[in-house]
Amino acid sequence: MSSRPITSQPTRRKVLLLGSTGSIGTSALKVARDIPERMEIVGLAAHRSVDALVAQVLETGVKQVSLTDEASAARARALLPADVVIHVGEQGLVDLVQASDADMVLVAIVGVAGLAPAMAAIEAGKHLAVASKEILVMAGEAVMEAAKRRGVDILPVDSEHNAIFQCLEGHRGCDVRRILLTASGGPFRQLPADQLPQVTLAQALKHPTWTMGRKITIDSATLFNKGLEMIEARWLFDVPMSQIEVVVHPQSIVHSMVEFTDNSVIAQLSHSDMCFPIQYAVTWPDRVPNNLRPLDFAKLASLAFEAPRTQDFPALDLARHAGEVGGTLPAVLNAANEVAVEAFLAERTSFPAIWKTVAAVMERHSVVQHPDLPTLIDADAWARRTAADLLPRA
Ligand code: NDP
Repeated sequence: MSSRPITSQPTRRKVLLLGSTGSIGTSALKVARDIPERMEIVGLAAHRSVDALVAQVLETGVKQVSLTDEASAARARALLPADVVIHVGEQGLVDLVQASDADMVLVAIVGVAGLAPAMAAIEAGKHLAVASKEILVMAGEAVMEAAKRRGVDILPVDSEHNAIFQCLEGHRGCDVRRILLTASGGPFRQLPADQLPQVTLAQALKHPTWTMGRKITIDSATLFNKGLEMIEARWLFDVPMSQIEVVVHPQSIVHSMVEFTDNSVIAQLSHSDMCFPIQYAVTWPDRVPNNLRPLDFAKLASLAFEAPRTQDFPALDLARHAGEVGGTLPAVLNAANEVAVEAFLAERTSFPAIWKTVAAVMERHSVVQHPDLPTLIDADAWARRTAADLLPRA
């Protein structure tokens, strides 16, 4: 990724926010309130949270929105001013991207629904701020190629990748030895392996350091979140999987690190608040004062680091394998995981069944290399069906 000269004229980004009613979406709106001179929200998209979306439209005054659920869109129409255009359905997300005058699209939709609008944003020449990890996990090769061809920036919002992006600035790729992704270790970091089959949904949803949506919180407990991030990093920073490692850091203050060939390590630190990476993605390459809480080193009791328990939490090895093989396998891992997490969230299956299902689906898959988007979508659908067949029915 290239670094840009410091802009002489600060840019006020016009941001289209997809997934505005979620955890990242609401943090992005907080950032826009904090630095209005640098960030203007020009469009919003949600799935079916009508009341929250309507409140956001009234606050921001945007004139373009989308809801993927038809009934929700009909309800929103009755509540919103007549001059607000409501795009509807999956295609509505793409239409919104194409109709918007945004210069940046922030994709924070959970699941694969973010892929088509992300590709539409790139094709429309809009910069992409990526929170939804599914986009790069599924289609990293295609997305990065399209961005290069269209000359648009892909700015990572995930705190780890945003940290790595910051650590790499001003450095040459050939000087990087290792990317060190930090992981909190989740709520079961110290739980003996023989107790993992008994963990409850409520326990898995109690993340020790971050407040996030339900799906990513379960992924943090299984370590699939970190596995997905390894694959995401591989594409974002164009490094082989062998150069990406995971370090457990329970305090979530160091958001990731880069080790260089001279054995120096550069890290990025802040409190665990997604407003930090969201702001940097929007204001890059500039640093802008804000109202976020600074670190007080005298009050930080300790910063600890340990190796991940890869034997007890197979997600990391499964993701490493998927990233090394490439092709359709990462999309299959991602889709099987989504279905297994849904089953766990519905209390239909056990915690270890999540990685057992993913492993079984990956084993059954015939990998296609250098897939185009339709091939990826087919692999995703196949993995969902196969995972559903392996799990207890709803
Ligand atoms: P949430 O579940 O909190 O929010 C998801 C958002 O996506 C909501 O606005 C939801 O709308 C919308 N949405 C869901 N399904 C669809 C769909 N089919 N079409 C359009 N919109 C949809 O998720 P998070 O904010 O936690 O996460 C969003 C993404 O960011 C995920 O990919 C996650 O992995 C990633 N991420 C999250 C982090 C975090 O701290 N939360 C950190 C790093 C990455 P509605 O409310 O109407 O359902």
